[in-house]
Amino acid sequence: MKKVIATPSRTKEILETYQLFAKKNYGQNFLVEPGIVEKIARLAVISDHCAVFEIGPGIGALTQFLAEYAKEVTAFEIDDRLIPVLADTLQDQKNVTVIHGDFLEQDISMLMQAKQRQGLDVVVAANLPYYITTPILFKLFESPVAFQAITVMMQKEVADRFAAVPSTKEYNALSVLTQYRCHVKQLMKIPTEVFQPRPAVESAVVQFTFKPQRELQAGAEPQFYEMVKACFKQRRKTILNNYGEYCGDKQLARDILAAADIDAGIRAEALTLDRYLTLFSVQQERGL
Ligand code: SAM
Repeated sequence: MKKVIATPSRTKEILETYQLFAKKNYGQNFLVEPGIVEKIARLAVISDHCAVFEIGPGIGALTQFLAEYAKEVTAFEIDDRLIPVLADTLQDQKNVTVIHGDFLEQDISMLMQAKQRQGLDVVVAANLPYYITTPILFKLFESPVAFQAITVMMQKEVADRFAAVPSTKEYNALSVLTQYRCHVKQLMKIPTEVFQPRPAVESAVVQFTFKPQRELQAGAEPQFYEMVKACFKQRRKTILNNYGEYCGDKQLARDILAAADIDAGIRAEALTLDRYLTLFSVQQERGL
C-alpha cells in the first residue's frame, strides 16, 4: 500500500484535488483514522480466501485495507463523482473491482454464487450510509445465499437495537429477521472524531454471522419475511388488523391467529421469533 487514504490530510488532499464535498444525501462521512480502519478490515476479512463486498467505498479508505487482507474486493458506489477518484486512489490495488450503482438494486446472489464456485468465502464490509442502514440489512439478511460474515459500521443507537427483546419499542421486523438468520456481536464503539465530516452521533461496528441451520425451506423464506414485515406495517395497530390486511380476509386472519394460539388483540412487537414461525406454519397449512 503506497499512501494511506484514511488520514485527515490525505482525505483533504483528495477532496481538494477533485473539488469534491461530502454529500449529505448519500450519507457521506469519510473515515480518517487509519488504526480503526485497519482494525475493521482485519475483523471483516475472516479468512485468507475471502471475496469482500463493500457497500459505499467513498474515496477508498476502507477498501484499501480490505484489499490488503482479502483475495478480492467488489465495491459498490452510487456517487458517480467518486468513480474516477477510486480509479486513482486504488490504482495499486489490482484485486479491487468498483461497481457504479445503487447497492440496493444489485443482484448479489448471482455474484455471490460465482465467488463461492471459486472456493471463496463471501463477506460484507462497510461503513454504511446511515440513511439506508435498514434496507441494506434487510437485503443482506434476505439473501438466499448465506454470507460468511457481515461486518458493518452503523449508528450506535441502531446497533443497540439488535439486542432488543419483544414488547419494547426497539423491537421491529428487522429484529425478528436478524434473530431468524444471524448471530450478532457488537465489536467496537467508534467516536465521532474519526470521520470527516463528523456525524452527530456515535457509531459502532457490528458483526453478523449466519446461523448454519434454517428453520424454513429456502423457497418459503421470502414469504415469511413478507409476513413479518406486514405484521409490523402499522405498529400501533393490532396484529389482527395488520395481519388481516396482509391476508386480504379478516376472518381468515382471525382463524389462523386462533389456530396459532395468538391473541388477535396484541401488537406485532409482542411476538417472539418462535411465535412468528408458528404463525407462518399455520398459514402454510391453510394453503396461504
Ligand atoms: N467507505 C467510506 C469510508 O469509510 O470512508 C465511505 C463511507 S460513507 C459513510 C458511505 C458511502 O456509501 C458513500 O461513499 C456513499 O456515496 C455511498 N452510498 C450511499 N448510498 C449508496 C447506495 N445506495 N449504494 C452504494 N453506495 C452508496
